[in-house]
Amino acid sequence: MSILTITFDDGYKDTYSNTAEHLINRGVKATFAIPSDHISGILENRPVMDKNDILYLQSNGHEIAAHTGSHVNLLSLFNTGGKQAVLDQLSSPKVVFQNSLGITPVSFVFPFIERNNNAELRGLASEHYRSSRITSDTFSVNPLPVNDPFSITGTAITTSTDLPTLNGYIDSILDKNVWLIEVFHLVSAKNTKSAHRDAPYGFFTHIDIFMAHLDHIQNSGITLLTQKDAIASFTAR
Ligand SMILES: [Zn+2]
Repeated sequence: MSILTITFDDGYKDTYSNTAEHLINRGVKATFAIPSDHISGILENRPVMDKNDILYLQSNGHEIAAHTGSHVNLLSLFNTGGKQAVLDQLSSPKVVFQNSLGITPVSFVFPFIERNNNAELRGLASEHYRSSRITSDTFSVNPLPVNDPFSITGTAITTSTDLPTLNGYIDSILDKNVWLIEVFHLVSAKNTKSAHRDAPYGFFTHIDIFMAHLDHIQNSGITLLTQKDAIASFTAR
């Protein structure tokens, strides 16, 4: 039996506004990975959810996951600032979420595609969380049961991932025994510009595609779990 986690990285307000009510109405629980320094602020020119948004998600059964404080590349930080700087980025989200929202995040998500796939960083993450995830920009699944909760991989859904491709991900795993983590960023009616170059943002999904995909997911009967719940139920012991 395969399982699916729907994840939204970076906490964009537009993603929240477009998806939260639909997810709640359908009883779909997702994982939202939010960089804690950016709550109510801006990340890469896009507004980020405020405290009330996050509390609303939490109270409706969604998971709030840690995604560093400042959305820094932890491997670069490790190389320039050392272990303590990384530990600060791992621990500060817990303090912020606990003190200002009463939420204790137990799952961690590394920012940036694949670049933090590093054993030492995973070891540091294990000092603070029950699991940590990296992101691949190609289709990638995790065998079940999970052997190492700190070495799980999500599949980035990009601006060029069309609906047949997205639905095909689900169809391709139904008769297997794997865990697919779909990683969305901006889900909205309109894309934005990249913060880094003169081009459209690369991690945008049109809300119509997302909703049609949600239909496909629910029709498929695949088991949907948050990162936290998947780790709790499917980790090898
Ligand atoms: Zn991110």
